[in-house]
Amino acid sequence: MTAWTIGALARQVAGPVLRPGDDGCAGELAGFDLAVDQRPAIVVGATGPADVIAAVRHAQEAGFAVGVQATGHGITVPADDALLITTRRADAVRVDPADRSAWLGAGAIWSRVLHEAAPFGLAPLAGSAPAVGAVSYTLGGGLGVLGRRYGFSADRVRRLDVVTADGRPRQVSADEHPDLFWALRGGGGNFGVVTGMQVELVELSELYGGGLFFPGEAAAGVLAAMLAVGCGAPDEIGLSAALMVFPDLATVPSAVRDRWCCHVRVSSTGSPGKCEQVIAPIRHAATPLLDTLRTMPVTDLGTIHNDPTTPRATNTRSLVLRTADDDTVATVLGHAGPGAPFGVEVRQLGGALARQPTVPNAVGHRHGAVTVYTTAYPAPAGSGASGGADEQALLDDLAPWTDGGALVNFLAGPHVTPTDVRTAYEPEIWARLVQVKTRWDPDNVFRINHNIPPAGTGTVSPGTTAQAGRAGVVVGHELPALAPHQEGPGA
Ligand SMILES: Cc1cc2nc3c(=O)[nH]c(=O)nc-3n(C[C@H](O)[C@H](O)[C@H](O)COP(=O)(O)OP(=O)(O)OC[C@H]3O[C@@H](n4cnc5c(N)ncnc54)[C@H](O)[C@@H]3O)c2cc1C
Repeated sequence: MTAWTIGALARQVAGPVLRPGDDGCAGELAGFDLAVDQRPAIVVGATGPADVIAAVRHAQEAGFAVGVQATGHGITVPADDALLITTRRADAVRVDPADRSAWLGAGAIWSRVLHEAAPFGLAPLAGSAPAVGAVSYTLGGGLGVLGRRYGFSADRVRRLDVVTADGRPRQVSADEHPDLFWALRGGGGNFGVVTGMQVELVELSELYGGGLFFPGEAAAGVLAAMLAVGCGAPDEIGLSAALMVFPDLATVPSAVRDRWCCHVRVSSTGSPGKCEQVIAPIRHAATPLLDTLRTMPVTDLGTIHNDPTTPRATNTRSLVLRTADDDTVATVLGHAGPGAPFGVEVRQLGGALARQPTVPNAVGHRHGAVTVYTTAYPAPAGSGASGGADEQALLDDLAPWTDGGALVNFLAGPHVTPTDVRTAYEPEIWARLVQVKTRWDPDNVFRINHNIPPAGTGTVSPGTTAQAGRAGVVVGHELPALAPHQEGPGA
């Protein structure tokens, strides 16, 4: 892009327009995940839909791929040589208590939505880490601690405002562009830049939950009990467990500090008494080192998992299991342990997560029993991230319990392959996602993501597509391209 066109773009955009090396550019690119080093050609700090429209139109004219970044919790593909739209300024949250819904700007994070909705006795379907961006989390499905009761976050979307590859704003709902409405709810950022989203809120002020921290040596019995309880638990109860060595930090309670633990996370929207009755077999499996179960305001939901909040290099792998038993536990414990270079999380699925919403969507692996997720411990500075071979060995040994594939939100890092992305969806969902992608983004302008390539472009790795996205290179050239500002499909 020439200096002249950058100047033209800057005049149309209310937020900053930056290039690498410009003052403020490094700060604009900074996000939670430090594993991916990005060198975009141009960065647009969008303040709202008009800035996004201008940015996408300029990207089309200049031949740039378009990337989007909110908090940077899920940077999978570096936006090298692309136009990157940052959305953190567009963080409006408007709660409509009468309608039990909230309108969220592209940069809104869950903690803000939780706090804005709470005074009305309402709550969003936030994830375990409320600092995560609400829009991207939801586009990838969104599995939260309230999921077994209320479903995936994507199941509660009513409407999305989207700027499609032709640079046009679209209102997308069950009635308007229903193919996009289906695909956006689960298919990620492949179909456009979402500038706003209306989500249903649930009536909830408090929940009962927290953590039971058991010694890691008791993990076999505890994990087996959790899985057994989880199979028959009412939908109101959510369960997960993390096997990990807690860091040796003053902020970590001394009972678990620098200790290998099996941390069972419990969340219940029902009565504390009923929850305790259901989870009794887990308590009886061993004596906890620490017990933080209590009735809490829903705004404290992030304390159930206590996910890390300081930026770090994330290196994760994941797999959905169709079933899990004592042998699964033995397999996990054969790899996870005090000496392993990674922690393992096992989350119970089922309940409302397994039911399609009234208007079906593209969320993959709805019918799984549990999801297994590995996360490498932060490597010492300068040593690089873990290679991942140990984690992959665990996932390979879990083959008897899986049909393959992970929830797309749990695929993070530069190691994610095109096969990982494809198998995040059942074949029929994938085929339909490709159809919708081909219709709405035939040039694969939106490829800085968990990419769904349009038909005819083959399966290319996200990293490769980012390379192919350099200015002037057109992906999917055998398909008719949308000219900028031209009437788009389904208009
Ligand atoms: C600590 C931690 C905890 C997590 N917990 C959970 C959890 O409990 N449940 C769960 O389901 N997931 C969870 N995740 C995964 C998380 O939901 C995804 O990584 C999500 O994509 C992060 O969104 P973000 O906006 O914060 O990140 P970003 O890195 O800013 O965005 C990720 C990607 O989303 C796309 N995107 C962002 N904004 C837009 C937009 N406006 N329009 C179109 N595309 C867009 C882009 O492709 C972008 O690369 C967790 C991740 C971390 C690091």
